[in-house]
Amino acid sequence: MRKHNKRAEVAPVYDDQFGYWGDAKNEAYLHPQPKVLNIFPVEGDPEFLVREVLKRDLSKVEKIRFDPVNVCNIACIFCCTDLKAKHAQISPESLRSILHRISQTCHRISCGCGYEPLMAKNIDEYIQTIKKVVNDEFPLKPKVNMVTNGMLLGQRNLDSLEYLDWVHISVHSHRKENFERIEKGANFDTLVSNIKNLRKKYTDLNIHIEFVVNQENKEDVEEFTHWAFEELQADSINLKRVAVESYHPRSYLYESVIAESSLGLLDEEWHKISRKIAESWPSKLAEGQVFSSPDQIITKCAMTDFIEL
Ligand code: SF4
Repeated sequence: MRKHNKRAEVAPVYDDQFGYWGDAKNEAYLHPQPKVLNIFPVEGDPEFLVREVLKRDLSKVEKIRFDPVNVCNIACIFCCTDLKAKHAQISPESLRSILHRISQTCHRISCGCGYEPLMAKNIDEYIQTIKKVVNDEFPLKPKVNMVTNGMLLGQRNLDSLEYLDWVHISVHSHRKENFERIEKGANFDTLVSNIKNLRKKYTDLNIHIEFVVNQENKEDVEEFTHWAFEELQADSINLKRVAVESYHPRSYLYESVIAESSLGLLDEEWHKISRKIAESWPSKLAEGQVFSSPDQIITKCAMTDFIEL
């Protein structure tokens, strides 16, 4: 039997960040003059981080990662976030107040970074808030994106999606049984139909697919890449090695660890996958990073080292 350390650990944060999903109220993570804001609702006191961030010096903020709600509708087996907290939501008005304070320096706005943004029924209001403050107050339009598992795309009023520079959708297999085993509670057919409808409705929207490679889907990678470009008409794909080192004690990854379910990849396995992808796509498509500069362009790329949200 594999041994594991039952005490869940949390990852360190970078010095210039404000707000940390692993320990929201810890002063140590509330930087006095941050460059990156991680703003999400806190259980029992949804606007805690909003109140605190508005007290800080925000003159150097380059990027905001904003979650309107602190819940998700599915349960990925490698999810390291606390998804057992009671529902909490930050108002669009609070988002407006923060954007107003960072308008002169911020060049990236990401919506839905730790949780599922479409769990906010009024998600379109947040996008419209971003659009309005940017139009009225930002000297330059920042890159704006949304990160979602895509399951609720068909159920929300999303009239403002064309304002996004890209939508970032997690899809962890093209095989229904693997997909539904990894993304528990999600229905594969619904997701595929949602993405295809999105493609039809917003022909110019950049659709980025995120695939987290782990023991359950490592054999799917090569076929998946072709399927996602050809069938889903994705603009870019990121194949990311699963991270299993740190997790919240109330996360699904912690449950996987407790259940002795080994999701992590050996270095050799990861290198083999990287080689296969490099061979299966022309080098100009298989190399290079997307979203790695302030200009943040999306290219049709089968593999990136990282996606900077
Ligand atoms: S990793 Fe999965 S379970 Fe976790 S927030 Fe994202 S979509 Fe939800």
